[in-house]
Amino acid sequence: MDDRLRREVFELIEGLAVREKDRLAAWGTFAEIEDLTAEIGDEVARQLARFELTRRSEEMTETGVHACPECGKEAPVEAEREPLILQGMRGEIEYREPVCRCTRCR
Ligand SMILES: [Zn+2]
Repeated sequence: MDDRLRREVFELIEGLAVREKDRLAAWGTFAEIEDLTAEIGDEVARQLARFELTRRSEEMTETGVHACPECGKEAPVEAEREPLILQGMRGEIEYREPVCRCTRCR
């Protein structure tokens, strides 16, 4: 992770810590703090991944065509997106994947 991204994360967490200071103060031992912060970290990872996947999905749908990963021929992207649950390292990520069928490869 580069310094700029680390600083962005710091600012995000600083804001969260200030807004949630009463709740954080009620947390118990270091082990409990670590359990809860790991859970928050997983949630941040899932939400950020879902956000980026959705952005790419919307961009591809707006573009209307996508190059086939097999043959490279451009194929139309369908208007309907397919609901999908990905099993990521930090848990399940739900999003709607664009559908594109290559007329050459199917
Ligand atoms: Zn193809």
